Amino acid sequence: MCGIVGYIGTKDSYPILIKGLHRLEYRGYDSAGISLITSNGDLVVYKAKGKVSSLEHDTADKDISGTIGIAHTRWATHGEPNATNAHPHYSESHNLTLVHNGIIENYKPLRTELEKNGLTFHSETDTEVLVQLIEYMQITHQCDTVTAVHLALKNVVGAYAIAILDKRNPNQLIAARKGSPLIIGVGKGNSTAGEGNAEFLLGSDATPIIEYTDQVIYLKDEEIAVLNRNGKCAITNLDSIQQTPQLQTLQMSLDELEKGGFQHFMLKEIYEQPNAIRTCMKGRIDPQNHDILLSGVIDHRDRFLNAKRIIICACGTSWHSALIGKYFIEEATKIPVEVEYASEFRYRNPVISKQDIVIAISQSGETADTLAAIQLAREKGCFVYGICNVIGSSIPRNTDSGTYIHVGPEIGVASTKAFTGQLTTLILFGLAIAKVRQTLDEQLFHQLVDDLMLIPEKMQWTLEHSKGIEQFARTFTYCKNFIYLGRGYNYPVALEGALKLKEISYIHAEGYPAAEMKHGPIALIDEEMPVVVIAPKRGLYDKVVSNIQEIKSRKGRIISIVTEGDTIVKNMSDYCIEIPDTRDSYAPLLAVIPLQMLAYYIAITKGRDVDQPRNLAKSVTVE
Ligand code: GLU
Repeated sequence: MCGIVGYIGTKDSYPILIKGLHRLEYRGYDSAGISLITSNGDLVVYKAKGKVSSLEHDTADKDISGTIGIAHTRWATHGEPNATNAHPHYSESHNLTLVHNGIIENYKPLRTELEKNGLTFHSETDTEVLVQLIEYMQITHQCDTVTAVHLALKNVVGAYAIAILDKRNPNQLIAARKGSPLIIGVGKGNSTAGEGNAEFLLGSDATPIIEYTDQVIYLKDEEIAVLNRNGKCAITNLDSIQQTPQLQTLQMSLDELEKGGFQHFMLKEIYEQPNAIRTCMKGRIDPQNHDILLSGVIDHRDRFLNAKRIIICACGTSWHSALIGKYFIEEATKIPVEVEYASEFRYRNPVISKQDIVIAISQSGETADTLAAIQLAREKGCFVYGICNVIGSSIPRNTDSGTYIHVGPEIGVASTKAFTGQLTTLILFGLAIAKVRQTLDEQLFHQLVDDLMLIPEKMQWTLEHSKGIEQFARTFTYCKNFIYLGRGYNYPVALEGALKLKEISYIHAEGYPAAEMKHGPIALIDEEMPVVVIAPKRGLYDKVVSNIQEIKSRKGRIISIVTEGDTIVKNMSDYCIEIPDTRDSYAPLLAVIPLQMLAYYIAITKGRDVDQPRNLAKSVTVE
């Protein structure tokens, strides 16, 4: 949540910062702001409510000169989304400006203390406390800004990624992080450091950086970086002990960050799924030997051999993929699996033992609740396995082992390809453990591997046969409620379908296991209520057919997802979308695609901003 961009170098910083904000806008978009040290030495701040385009509009006639700056796109936690609360915030003297991602938990006592000392606050944010405190430390300790940042951060409780400008030192950009992500881009010119063409970028993720350099440093928790115009990057920890930065090369191309001819990132990402899943499986399946090669499991063989239980912690869409993963892993490995909301797990005192394995799933690898769950699991001595998409993010750095889903950057706020990537990874994971524990007979194991390899092709087929959804989605534009039903492996798919619709169309939707209908929700059914039923041929098909009868008898409108060639459910449905036949456990990988499309096209007909739905943001880095 929230995006930070920073620049120091020889180029004009404004266009770089604005472009960076656009790339980060998926992380938060209720307000945006920018601070620059202009060519005549002024420290200016421009802020606007709404999207980055409003900020651009408002700065059209302003002085946007200068080669150093910081910028922010906000997802408000403290204080309503307006221009005053937008970042950057000034210090009392207007010598410093600061942008922040995260939450300062002890901001109230700090603010009271600073107010007692005569400082005036202008916003309702927790963030303003940081910049005021830094300046207060500087004055009271008679020290330089970098030392003041150390002193201030030692007094702070909470999570932060920050970037700071100091009017008195236009050759230096200061950054720090704890609990929220921050990446330093090391510009190509830095090889000629000292000759005046070095540059550094800052970003909450790599997307604002990749256009200029693929060389990055992932700032670690409680590290403070001082980026100098002469190309020097000094990193210290909170105790001022010098750290050795590790330069890494980004694996990302600029094309992945463009819409590539699609109207929205979400639609592009839906269509990317066949290739994304191919990439996810690449190098992890040996087709000749029908084998799985998952180093995250193989390298820790004994852990998996001795595991007594698996607990999966996740939030939102990742939690839905975890539910499906549970069914598959239990079936394949015979290890009991529990699925927990990371946000609940972290605040109870779960009974976990050293022989338990905790899996943490998060697209961004930065989900605050999931990171806290990881920390708790590690404190209890568990082996923690991470499943995430963003390379170099906090999850892989804080887990014992793990697997990247490798589906490429997901920009649309509503997750699509990350969901199918997580499912594929959980299947690979389950199969890899099954091999270690020898819980599947060889023939079935080979068949499972072979069938998995066919999924990308079947996804392609599903995409081509889902095109009709665009037409009939209009019928449902004015519906107020939706119900999604599925059983077995497809029950979590119903939850995910309902979540997609809620997120981007703002229509109320609920997912249920189909058989639960008669225990209450069936009371909701009338001719106004569309019911989406996931009813592929295998699994509990006959039972689902009976559930559909019950809905039809009460005049509900049926939209069904069926296996190619099905006639029984098709004849009972008002609208029907076919998916190719596959084994029961793999059907979610296909069945979710029409549900993503349905949500997308209904949202479009309602005129919603599908890539940036209201109140939401991607990468939930706050609690
Ligand atoms: N807590 C800060 C605020 O409300 C930053 C939120 C964010 O990470 O966007 O302004």
